[in-house]
Amino acid sequence: MLGRVLDACMTLRLDGKQLAAELEQRLQAEIKAGLASAGRPPGLAVLRVGDDPASGVYVANKQKACSRIGVVSYGAHLPASTSEADLLASIKDLNADQRVDGILLQLPLPMGIDEGPLLAAIDPEKDADGLHTLNLGRLLKGEPGPRSCTPAGVMALLARHQLSLEGKRAVVIGRSILVGQPMALMLQAANATVSVAHSRTQDLAELTKQADVLVVAAGRPRMLGAEHVKQGAIVVDVGIHRLPADPSMGPDSKGRLCGDVRAEEVEPLASALTPVPGGVGPMTVAMLLVNAVARWQQHCGLPFTLKDLLP
Ligand code: NAD
Repeated sequence: MLGRVLDACMTLRLDGKQLAAELEQRLQAEIKAGLASAGRPPGLAVLRVGDDPASGVYVANKQKACSRIGVVSYGAHLPASTSEADLLASIKDLNADQRVDGILLQLPLPMGIDEGPLLAAIDPEKDADGLHTLNLGRLLKGEPGPRSCTPAGVMALLARHQLSLEGKRAVVIGRSILVGQPMALMLQAANATVSVAHSRTQDLAELTKQADVLVVAAGRPRMLGAEHVKQGAIVVDVGIHRLPADPSMGPDSKGRLCGDVRAEEVEPLASALTPVPGGVGPMTVAMLLVNAVARWQQHCGLPFTLKDLLP
C-alpha cells in the first residue's frame, strides 16, 4: 500500500495551466519588444457561427487570453442562418485586413454548413489553428508554418519537462485531423517510433502496453485504464468531457470534468500524466496565441523568436 502511495507521489504532473501562464508572459514580452518596429500590435480574429454554448465559452476564453498579452481581438459572431457565401465573404475580408495576423474559425459549425471550403478559404499565412491543407502539408514535410494547436501544446508540455522522445515507442489513440494525425507527425519528427490506434484497432491494450509515451485523443470519457498502460509510461490525456451532474449535489451543480483516461487508475503506473482539467486544454489556447504572435512577427518583418514552440 505504502509502495503504491509513494509511486503515485512520484508521478510527474504535466501542468499545462502553469506552462500556459509562462508562455503568456513570454509572448507578452515578445509583443512589447517588437511593437515599436511593427507599428501595430498582433491581431487575432475568431469567427463564431451560431450559438453552440460550449463554443461561446471557448471563444470567450480565447479573447480573454488575447487581451491578457496584448493581442487585439477582431472577428465576428454570425447567426447560424448565415449563408456559405456570406461566411466566405467574411473570411476574405479578414484575409485582406492588414491588422489581422491570425484567423480562427470556431468549430463545430451549425448543422448544414460545410467547414471544408471555409477552412480552405483562410489565408494559410493567417491560419491560427494550423489546420489549412497547406500547413498540414508543411508539417508533413517538416517545413515551418503555423502548427495545429493541441498537438503543438502537447509537444511544448513534454519539452518543458525535458521528456526526451528520441527512440521512444509512442502510441497515439485517435486519427483526427484536429489532434491524432498531426500529433503522430510531431512525435515522429521528434524521433519517436509512432503507432496510431483508432476505432477499428484490434486489441488496443496489447498495443498501448508497449507505449513509452501514450497520447489519448479518442473522445471517449474514461476509456483508458490501468490495463492499457505500461509501468513508467508518459500518459497525455487530450480528452475533455463533462460528466452528468449528480442530482444529490443540488439543482445548480455541474457534472465534473474528466478526460479519456481513468486518472486514478493510471496515475500509480505512469511516470508522468497530464491532469484534466489543467493539462492539454490551457496549452491549446496558449499555442493559438503562439501561432498568432509568430504570424505577426512574420507579417511585420520582425525576428522569428518562437521557433522552439512550433515543432
Ligand atoms: P474525433 O472524434 O474527431 O476523433 C476521435 C478519434 O478517436 C477517431 O480517430 C477514432 O477513430 C478514435 N477512437 C474513437 N474511439 C476509439 C476507441 N475505442 N479506440 C481507439 N480509437 C478510438 O475527436 P478529436 O477532435 O480528435 O478530439 C479527441 C478528444 O480530444 C475529444 O474528447 C475532444 O473533446 C478532445 N480535445 C481536447 C482539446 C483540448 O484542448 N484539451 C482539443 C481538441 C480536442
